[in-house]
Amino acid sequence: MATSVLNAPHFINEEAAFAYVESRLWPHGPVCSHCGNADSNRIRKMEGKTTRLGLHKCYECKGQFTVKQGTIFESSHLPLHLWLQVIHLMCASKKGISTNQIQRMLSCSMKTAWFLTHRIREAMRSGDFSPMGGADNTVEIDETYIGRKDGFEIKRGSGHKNAVLTLVERGGEARSFHLESATKDVIMPIVRANVKRESFVMTDEANRYSKLGNEFANHGSVDHSRKEYGYYDRETGANINTNTVEGYYSIFKRGMIGVYQHCGEQHLHRYLAEFDFRYSNRAKLGVNDANRADIALQGVKGKRLTYETATSL
Ligand SMILES: [Zn+2]
Repeated sequence: MATSVLNAPHFINEEAAFAYVESRLWPHGPVCSHCGNADSNRIRKMEGKTTRLGLHKCYECKGQFTVKQGTIFESSHLPLHLWLQVIHLMCASKKGISTNQIQRMLSCSMKTAWFLTHRIREAMRSGDFSPMGGADNTVEIDETYIGRKDGFEIKRGSGHKNAVLTLVERGGEARSFHLESATKDVIMPIVRANVKRESFVMTDEANRYSKLGNEFANHGSVDHSRKEYGYYDRETGANINTNTVEGYYSIFKRGMIGVYQHCGEQHLHRYLAEFDFRYSNRAKLGVNDANRADIALQGVKGKRLTYETATSL
């Protein structure tokens, strides 16, 4: 574990942690969480020994607030510098980090560790739904099966498992979906909504993808059942394969098996958000561990998650 980088003041000192989060979430100065006032002459930072850290007073609405309001940190008793440590570790470990490890690191309860990591996954959830790909871009599409659906007996095949669809743009981001079922009727609307028509799409030979060529600029497929894993297409000058999305799944599966053994299906979408986030903000795209943690931190706003919604979602 990369403990040396956790020496920065905002990982150790609570005041530094507040200053750090304020500088990221309020780049132009404090913003009142009650009325939206951002006039620095009408906001004062409360000082004094008995004052809560980071407390500000708004002279427009007379309200008091801290940078934690309206974020995943709100209503949490965990010190902010520990939140920042966990965010950093989740952003820096390629396959994720177990609830057990967080629990040991913070000496907190398993419930706290679990809740904490799920809130950070919410922060990692992308709000970007603009279509991927485009002219000269390739989007690989594939499905995988993981875990066990509630109430299904374990049998041969994948009927009892959760189906996941992933779209990966070569040289770009990944977007994954927990599917109700891996059928054409479920998959096609997702593909249409998330991939630009001008894209070159690549899939395996499955029937559900057979008509993609009618809807996208190009469609190439590889026949895995014939042990065909890729080829160079002379006509389009493209390398037809689904190696990128399979690479994504190999990281995802190693992470889910090794780190997240007991993932309920109602939480699968959040684990997918976590793996999508790290993939879409990977080192190859010029994002280092610290940048990645900063990007996750930007996602904490408007993502409050109560224990009730976390368990029922
Ligand atoms: Zn106000």
